[in-house]
Amino acid sequence: MIKKLFGKVFGRKSRPLSRNRENVIPFAVHKINRDLVSHGALRVTEGLQAAGFKAFVVGGAVRDLLLGRQPKDFDVATDATPEEVKRVFRRARIIGRRFRLVHVMFGEETVEVSTFRRAVEADEAETDAHGRILRDNEFGDQEQDAARRDFTANALFYDPATGEIFDYHHGYEDICAKSLRMIGEPEVRYREDPVRMLRAVRLSAKLGMHLDAATAEPIARMKNLLANVPQARMFDEMLKLLLSGHAWECVKKLRSMGLHHGMLPMLDVILEQPQGERFIINALHNTDQRIRDDKPASPAFLFAALLWHEVLADWDKRQRAGEKPVPALHEAMEAVLERQREQLAIPRRYDTIMKEIWLLQPRFEQRSGSRPVRLLGMPRFRAAYDFLLLRCESQEVAKEVGDWWTEFQDASDERRAEMLMPETEPRQKRRRRKKSNAATQAELPID
Ligand code: ATP
Ligand code: MG
Repeated sequence: MIKKLFGKVFGRKSRPLSRNRENVIPFAVHKINRDLVSHGALRVTEGLQAAGFKAFVVGGAVRDLLLGRQPKDFDVATDATPEEVKRVFRRARIIGRRFRLVHVMFGEETVEVSTFRRAVEADEAETDAHGRILRDNEFGDQEQDAARRDFTANALFYDPATGEIFDYHHGYEDICAKSLRMIGEPEVRYREDPVRMLRAVRLSAKLGMHLDAATAEPIARMKNLLANVPQARMFDEMLKLLLSGHAWECVKKLRSMGLHHGMLPMLDVILEQPQGERFIINALHNTDQRIRDDKPASPAFLFAALLWHEVLADWDKRQRAGEKPVPALHEAMEAVLERQREQLAIPRRYDTIMKEIWLLQPRFEQRSGSRPVRLLGMPRFRAAYDFLLLRCESQEVAKEVGDWWTEFQDASDERRAEMLMPETEPRQKRRRRKKSNAATQAELPID
């Protein structure tokens, strides 16, 4: 009777779901091992709860734990304001201007704490001409915080103290079914933020989840909206994608959905040539492997690889037109970087390393005299050598050259002396150049 009355007064839809016990998944069901939650995240949730606030581990971390994967970081959501969070912890600082978050530090670990917020509907929010939301910085409650998230699998709240998971959008079921499903109306959500299309591709490739049909369907129609996303944001997303440990899968998926134009515009051209394709596949596999082995992967190395065949083509064209190899390589690099900057927005800070890696490539062909030992001493030798191996794998360079360098770098002085090739041409007298930095060192003539 009372239940009926409640139903009438509040209606099913308006009843606060947070009080609906059906949405609480107990430990006995999900069986997340609390020991897998990081020390920092436990301290933050405990600290905030002891101070009288709500606090949960949220987002990707809960999803990853349920999928049996080790989360790469732990985020916490709370009803405390950033100032209140800061007051609870000794080492905490408020960051961000648009939406303020708190970073709480425990030794090496930083836990990002965000106050519950709500999505601002497109009609009340500031949007661009295509409906993309430009500002969405309103505080909200826990339920609203769940609704503003992208996928149901990303909208779970885990309380390590009680072991309970709060689920407002059937995220738990979706995770069990390995289904990535957008919260709300997919078309509306893509319009608000087109980057969600790329997140759909990246997360489904990385997590081995399939895209729910209704979530996938609008993408083909709406992909052009990506053109309006600021370049810096596209770049950040691309970096996440390339460094996800599943880069090749992501790139394949992007291509099959026609989404790569905005992201990796040069891919079409490169992947058309068999050698270029092999090179990119190897480079992406190589990065994926490094990430899975917990080894560092440098974005600059990856960009250098992605653009290499463009550089090669341009370099070749210039040499055939009669330019000398070294100046031609310099000009080819500049031309390719300039073209890519317009489309892809690779920030200039990566240029130096990319150029160093490229400029050292012709020098691996010189295997006589003192030049090989000098090359070993270059600061960028290691990256350039890894790059050379990729070129060998794609059969652009003879395997024997890569093998030679593999042996030479670790060989004894005697063995090195044996390995050096005889001088083919009489050594020309060279004027010494002033060496100021690695880039100019790499520019030494490759006679
Ligand atoms: P990853 O494992 O790559 O970090 P993630 O899901 O944790 O994946 P983050 O970018 O760290 O991704 O975002 C944290 C959480 O914020 C997400 O789980 C999701 O709930 C929410 N989120 C991130 N980006 C968006 C977006 N564009 N729209 C809505 N919610 C988002
Ligand atoms: Mg995350």
